[in-house]
Amino acid sequence: MRLQLKLALVLVPLVAGPVLALGWVSYDALRQDLEDTAVQSLDTALDMATQGLHDLMDAAQANSALFAAAGPVERYVRAADDQERTELLQAPLLKLFYQYRAAYPEYQEIRLLRPDGTTDIRVAASDLPDQLAAGQEPGFALVQADPEPIKVTLSLEAGGGGALHVYRRIALADHYLTRADDTLRTRGYLVLRVALAPLFERLSALPVAASGRLILAFPGGEVLFDSSGIWAGRQLPSALLHSDPVSAHSDRSGSRAAGIRTWDDSPWLVRVRFSEPGVLALAALPEHSLATPLRRLGLATLTMTGFAVLLLTTVLIAWLRRLVLRPLAVLRDAAGRIGAGELRTPIDVYSADEIGALAAAVRAMGEDLADRREQIELLAFHDPLTGLPNRRLIRELLGACVAAAAGADGYLAVLFLDLDNFKQINDALGHDQGDELLRGVAQRLESVSAPPASRVHLSRFGGDEFLIIADRLSSPDQAADVAQAMLDAAVQPSDLGGAEYIVTASIGITLYPRDAADADGLIRCADLAMYGAKAMGRNTLHFFSAELDHRVAARLQMESQLRQALGRGELTLHYQPIVHLEHGRLAGFEALLRWHNQVLGWVPPGEFIPVAEETGLIREIGRWVLAEVCRQLAAWRLAGLVTVPVSVNVSGGQIQRESLAETVSTLLAEHGLSAADIHLEITESVLMEQTLHDTGRLQALRALGLAIHIDDFGTGYSSLGYLQQLSVDCIKIDRSFVARLCTVDGDRTLVTAMITLAHALHLRVIAEGVETADQLAVLRTLNCDLGQGYWFARPAEAAVAANLLRMAAREAEGSPIIRRASCASRPRTASETS
Ligand code: C2E
Ligand code: MG
Ligand code: MG
Repeated sequence: MRLQLKLALVLVPLVAGPVLALGWVSYDALRQDLEDTAVQSLDTALDMATQGLHDLMDAAQANSALFAAAGPVERYVRAADDQERTELLQAPLLKLFYQYRAAYPEYQEIRLLRPDGTTDIRVAASDLPDQLAAGQEPGFALVQADPEPIKVTLSLEAGGGGALHVYRRIALADHYLTRADDTLRTRGYLVLRVALAPLFERLSALPVAASGRLILAFPGGEVLFDSSGIWAGRQLPSALLHSDPVSAHSDRSGSRAAGIRTWDDSPWLVRVRFSEPGVLALAALPEHSLATPLRRLGLATLTMTGFAVLLLTTVLIAWLRRLVLRPLAVLRDAAGRIGAGELRTPIDVYSADEIGALAAAVRAMGEDLADRREQIELLAFHDPLTGLPNRRLIRELLGACVAAAAGADGYLAVLFLDLDNFKQINDALGHDQGDELLRGVAQRLESVSAPPASRVHLSRFGGDEFLIIADRLSSPDQAADVAQAMLDAAVQPSDLGGAEYIVTASIGITLYPRDAADADGLIRCADLAMYGAKAMGRNTLHFFSAELDHRVAARLQMESQLRQALGRGELTLHYQPIVHLEHGRLAGFEALLRWHNQVLGWVPPGEFIPVAEETGLIREIGRWVLAEVCRQLAAWRLAGLVTVPVSVNVSGGQIQRESLAETVSTLLAEHGLSAADIHLEITESVLMEQTLHDTGRLQALRALGLAIHIDDFGTGYSSLGYLQQLSVDCIKIDRSFVARLCTVDGDRTLVTAMITLAHALHLRVIAEGVETADQLAVLRTLNCDLGQGYWFARPAEAAVAANLLRMAAREAEGSPIIRRASCASRPRTASETS
């Protein structure tokens, strides 16, 4: 149920209760007023009636006194002689009476009664019937019996009207009396009959007479006057006069109680009052004359109350809406929007109350959530080290760029940048310095500006990989320009802990839609192209091509096979003899790795060793080679053979990442060998890259007593002086020099220089790849110490090497030297057959 409805349900009774009570009280007060007004109008009518009657009575009594005191009346009643009365005094008296009647037309009759009550003189209206017989007049009887000189009575006329009768005793004054005899004193009675019709007419004109009834009646109920005419001359029901009202209310006038009584089968509001002389005044209003206005009043009150309830409820709800409901609705909407992710949503509620505080709290919550979301997004989509967009964000961005580039002019290029040999730097300097170098490279890459009208997005894609999107390029050449600028930026020296280091990069480039149609495809192609750049010698850029795709696929296949080679026992070692050139005796062996794979067949070391080095598999393989050589030497000895030192090739990765000295010494100890049984061959180029940082490790190897041979000497542009500092024992002149020894003069000079200098530094020299007798002859002339090559023997299995050991043992006893060893049959590697 909605809050507004709930509020209405609560508010309407809350408002309606008091308002209805107020309405009821007002209605009751108004009803009371109405009834009071009705009672008041009844009282007014009663006042008018009784007052009119009293006024009439008073006037009549006063006039009767006046008339009685008039001279002719006095003379008439004092006259003792009847004749004198009749003849002399009657006429003036009659005249006087006529004059009175003319002056007071409502005085219907003026009479003079004798002391016995019989009529003496009478002046009356012509339509008035004769007076009542003497003694039958109630007024006379009363006045005669009463010592009071006057009596007033009312009479009911036969026709329905009424009259007021004043009986005044006429007595002689005391000075006329001869003796105190009361009977003699009374000489007659003056009687006035006053018509009540004018009074009744006035009473009939009152408002009560029009809507109700105004009645004058005798206490016995005989009706003297009825304004409605219905009850005139009839008898009022005694219940109406005497019984208690059905319902009474307070009588504020102090008069007789008023109340609702049943009369003529309907309810009437009745008011009764007694008045002199012996008259009962009754005023009544039919209840329906009150009920109708009461109904109207009730209806009006009800309407007003309803209207008030409606108005008050509306006003209250409007007020509550403004104060509570609207802010709540705003807050609800805001909460909905915040829930939907619109966290910095405006909330237009600023009241200084609890709701305002709630709004402020919700606002603050939204802001806080927005800040947190931004932080989370930053963390989720950015690389914490460089602050650059991460793999996830650049993928999404590339998706958007691809969608935008579809059908648009211009080129979209993806550049995959990988630092060359970063792993070695990282291992050598530690991760902190590696991170520092990465940050520096990222900053320099970021500073590369985009070609005009195009955009460049840089991201850190992985450890030392950066992915760059170059968008809206005008030509593929611009992609190459961007890549070159990136290479130039990367190769700038990095200052790490006070020393400067240089790192190069390789970049693979793909173009949309030429190379791939979607983001993932583009990234994969750029990655492959990057391997192409690595294969081209590093520190260069390379565009993706389908041919490259195949090459890289093949490389990836080799990588996956190589990972399982050790486990499957696919690796073996062949041994190639190293010979003293002076007399041709066996000086040692070089252990050379062989890999036969069920899918790839014989794979030359020149192909799989670089893969093993790049993937890091070389560490595991290198350990196996060392262990295998040691095992083999121990086995030969166990077989009673006198062994010669075996040279083991060691890759850069082996020197950098593990404690080679520890491994070797453990193996030697395990197999009961000495350091002199093993020589380590490290290529000149590896030594050039590593010596700056790995002299300590090399020294550790030397400290073990291991001889270090510089393999492929002459290809790494190292100086002999420098090598001497590393305390190496021997250099192996690369076979490329030996191959050209007899054909190109320059190389002979070079080889001569190498041997001379090496000897000057007390280093021994091995010539690699001796294939011909001429080469051997020249080398002997040049005093080269040792030789290795097909001229002597090809690398062969351990069993073949064992034969050579046996032969060498015989040589020691005087047999001929190895001139050209006959090799046991074995599969040749690709490099050997080529
Ligand atoms: P390397 O250390 O310079 O080994 C000598 C290479 O020259 C061998 O090639 C050998 O077969 C070849 N060779 C010897 N005499 C002649 C000759 O008269 N003419 C010609 N054309 N070649 C000759 P291989 O066995 O193919 O090895 C290639 C390279 O693979 C090695 O060059 C070495 O750098 C690497 N390698 C071989 N075995 C291992 C190993 O166990 N560990 C490591 N790290 N590298 C190894
Ligand atoms: Mg070697
Ligand atoms: Mg070599």
